[in-house]
Formats: sequence, C-alpha cells, structure tokens
Amino acid sequence: MSELLAKKDIVRLVDQWLAAGRRVAGPQCVNAGDPHRQTDLINYTWLTKVEELQLDGFVRPTNTIKEVVFPRHEKLYGYEFKGKRIELVPAELPTAEQIVVGARPCDAAALHILDAVFNWDFKDEFYNRRRELTTIVTLACSKHDDFCFCTSVGAGPCDKRGSDVLLIPLDGDRYEVRCLTEKGQKLMAGATTTSSETAKEPEGPPTRFTLDALGEFLAAGYDRPEWPAVTRRCLGCGACAYTCPTCHCFDIVDEGGASGGARVRNWDACQFTMFTAHASGHNPRSDQSQRQRQRIHHKFQIYPDKFGELLCTGCGNCSRNCPVDMGVLPVLKTIAAKS
Ligand code: SF4
Ligand code: SF4
Repeated sequence: MSELLAKKDIVRLVDQWLAAGRRVAGPQCVNAGDPHRQTDLINYTWLTKVEELQLDGFVRPTNTIKEVVFPRHEKLYGYEFKGKRIELVPAELPTAEQIVVGARPCDAAALHILDAVFNWDFKDEFYNRRRELTTIVTLACSKHDDFCFCTSVGAGPCDKRGSDVLLIPLDGDRYEVRCLTEKGQKLMAGATTTSSETAKEPEGPPTRFTLDALGEFLAAGYDRPEWPAVTRRCLGCGACAYTCPTCHCFDIVDEGGASGGARVRNWDACQFTMFTAHASGHNPRSDQSQRQRQRIHHKFQIYPDKFGELLCTGCGNCSRNCPVDMGVLPVLKTIAAKS
C-alpha cells in the first residue's frame, strides 16, 4: 500500500501554507521577463505566491537549500562601546517555522551531512535552531544531465537522507508520498489518499567513476604530480563552493563603527587566495592547484575519515556552474582513471 497526492493538491497545500503565513521555499524561475535571458535560471527562493513554484521541467536549481539553514550572512551577536566597556548584545535566534518544497535529494542529503560538522566540537545553535524549524519535502529526480553523478558517490534520485517527506512521481499528475520523519507525517496529515499503486523509483545517472580508484589515488599522498595539470584552468572564482550543497566554510568578521557593531559570519571558499593567507604574508596554499587539491581531499578523504560520509552528494553543481568547465567531476574522472 502507498499514500498518494495529486500534483494539484501539493500546489493547493503550498497555497494554504503561504496563506497561513508560513515561510515556504521552493524552486522558482528568477529571470522570467528578462529580455536578455537565453535559458531559465531556476533558484530555490522564498515564495510569495504559489504560482512562483516550479517543481519540474529542469534538472536542479542553480543554488542549494543550505541557504535556509546556513545563511550567507548571519549576525552572531552585537556589541556596543560604553565608555571603556564593551557590552555584548545577543542576536535573536530564529523562531519561524519554514518548509522547503521540491528540494532535490542531493540537496536534502547535504543537510544530513552538514549536521555532523555543525555538531562536532561545538553545537552551532543558529544552524540547529533553523534545522529544527525546517521541514524538507523532497522530490525524487526524474531527469538528470551530464553533470549529475549521485550514483557514483553512493547517493541517488531517491536518497532519503535529510528529507522529511519524499515525493516520487507516479505519473504526470500524481506522486507517491513517503513520510520519513514525524515532522513529515505532521505536515502531510490528512492530505494523502491510501492506494495499492506504487511509484517506480527513477533510475539515476550512469556511474562516472569508481570510489575505489579515487580512494587509491588520494591515499597515495598529497604530492601527486598530476595536480597542476588537472586543475590548471581553475580561475579561483569560488562558484563551485557557493553553489555546492555541502560546502560550509565561513569567515567571522566584526562590522561596525565608533559606537558598536556586530560580529557576523559570512560564507567563504577554499578556492580564494586569501582563504589561507597568514598575517605574516605566508600562504600555505599559494597556487590554485593546491587549493583544488585541498577541495578534493577534504570532500573525498579528510571529511569521510572524520565523519564517515563523503562531503559530496554528486549534485554536479560545481561543474554545472563553473565558467571553465571544471568543478569536481572532470578532476575526479581524470584522477580515477590514473589510479
Ligand atoms: S573550479 Fe571552476 S567554479 Fe570552482 S573556483 Fe575554479 S573556476 Fe571557479
Ligand atoms: S562537490 Fe560538486 S558535486 Fe559534490 S556536492 Fe558539491 S557541488 Fe555537488
């Protein structure tokens, strides 16, 4: 037996959530009406009306849902100068419940992976509060492109990690609804109908490389001579990290004036020259191939050694959004082939 929901009913539900004042994010075309646009740019954004929601007709959004739990810019606390004293002003923790609808499984799985790093030696209350307040409704992928490689990293179009509800297309008009958590059950209570029909799980992209071969290459050491050649064309723009659902590096800075200010954290990226620059002027990763090597080692060796999971869901965004056709996929294919 299964639970089913018509496509028009998920649209009706989103409409009800918005009418009730709930924060709902989902894929939306963000360049509609632009006379210069050549292709639709689909991003996860906060919806203002249900008509903005676009569930299918594209592979995946350009950005990721990490933004709903880990914003690009976040105030950690304020400070005020009071004579010779500094008074700290706590930042307000988020309180609004939020729903993401139409998340891709490679995005939802990334939140499950990020839970480990935000609760490792320090429990990040901002991240954890948003995570508690967020319900993720994932849509299994029925399309993939040449950049997708989820099946090469142990994931796939029906990956359940990080999802509260998984929708699997049954036909053009209906979804099978799998509630995976209590939050998901609560969200979908009374909305579905029980049926004897079940959806066929869609197939993912073909395997692009094997992890065994990659692991051998990485285990052979840091100073492999191949790195400069396979990473030479990287511009260091950081688009790969900013559109990656699992990249989570940030910088903490003080922003303010003579009377006070705020300590904030902003996204950062290991592909920027300044990321590892020391105050002395020394930079232990002084060229771009070293920075790319770090990104691959971190995702496929260092993070898995520490947390037991790859820091990559195979979403392909880093290659899809790279201006010089790089990102991790071509590098991984090349080094796996060399092992
Ligand atoms: S791999 Fe591509 S997207 Fe990433 S920093 Fe280099 S040029 Fe930019
Ligand atoms: S490294 Fe690339 S393919 Fe892997 S999760 Fe990040 S953006 Fe997606």
